Amino acid sequence: MPERRSHFSLHDLMTLIIPDAMPSTRPTPTAAATGFPAASRGAILRAGMRGAFGMFPSFSRTDTTMDAVVTRRRARRTTPDTPARSITRDDVIAELRRLGATIAGFAPVERWAAHGEVPPAYRPEAIWPLARTVIAFGVPMLLPVIESTPSINYQEHYDTSNRLLDEISYRLAIWLNEAGHPAISLPRDGYGSLEILLTNPFASFSHTYAAKYAGLGTVGMSRNLLVAQYGPRVRLNSVFTAAAFDGDPELTGELCSRCRVCERACPTGAIRARSDGVVGDLDKDACTRHHITLRDERRWPCGICAKVCAVGADRKLYGRPGVKRYLEERAALEKNPDDPRFRSEVHLRRHGSGGTRIA
Ligand code: SF4
Ligand code: SF4
Repeated sequence: MPERRSHFSLHDLMTLIIPDAMPSTRPTPTAAATGFPAASRGAILRAGMRGAFGMFPSFSRTDTTMDAVVTRRRARRTTPDTPARSITRDDVIAELRRLGATIAGFAPVERWAAHGEVPPAYRPEAIWPLARTVIAFGVPMLLPVIESTPSINYQEHYDTSNRLLDEISYRLAIWLNEAGHPAISLPRDGYGSLEILLTNPFASFSHTYAAKYAGLGTVGMSRNLLVAQYGPRVRLNSVFTAAAFDGDPELTGELCSRCRVCERACPTGAIRARSDGVVGDLDKDACTRHHITLRDERRWPCGICAKVCAVGADRKLYGRPGVKRYLEERAALEKNPDDPRFRSEVHLRRHGSGGTRIA
């Protein structure tokens, strides 16, 4: 594997289903596939609808009207014989907004080869040959919640973002398919367990680099994607589509200031600055082993490198512009576990999880 493969990290995986075909585009189900003869399935559906409307007289309809409703709905759907409906970038963004995404961008697949950062086998066209555009999107992690890490509060927050990301990806892919534009969703994370990462610490696809190529941000020393609004406190996912959309302009400067606060705050010393570039070295094994400890305490992931980064307009929103307190936190709590400056974080760490650490 080429050296550049080492760009993938647990961050990629943590900031990382092929949707079932739409009923209208799916070949008529066979009896073997459904358990019912294909013709009888529709009849059962219609009979069920009649029964439901029959319970509420004001909504009751004749059988003929009900059949007409089903027919009209079918006609609106795209079938393999009808041309794709025109969809604009604004349409996609509006749909992503409706589904719950906060940031979004478009990356033509050619950008992977143009940058040469991602090995060929990990590029969109290698994973799905129909891919023309990658739609990258994300949801924020709320600063006061990530400040409590490691805590059950942050773990639940993280889990919620994961569910949302997967649902958005799945629903957007189906929405594109219904309009006649083939698309596939990806999971935001692509690993079965942290133990698997100890032997194979690579994601099959990096949402971090997809978001970079979609103009959403740049990759910082910690290897997290940094975005202007949230710094690294954002979680990402991607949808591949065969539709060709114009790409968003990529950022020309680096958002990472190379302040090295992430390097100093990392509890395992896993981040190491490099002299030849912004993106640092990462000891993935140390990072993953720390996550296994936190998972067993029911308060993972770590996320300290995301918590402490000074980049992000969210700091102003929450009135937390400086990061000095993060560098003082561990030593202060070792000296006085009840240091009033960190009362809120310690309270959250002491409840709902195992383990004894409070920093
Ligand atoms: S903490 Fe500093 S060095 Fe680390 S990613 Fe953020 S800006 Fe870059
Ligand atoms: S702070 Fe260190 S251990 Fe924690 S997630 Fe970042 S790199 Fe991994």
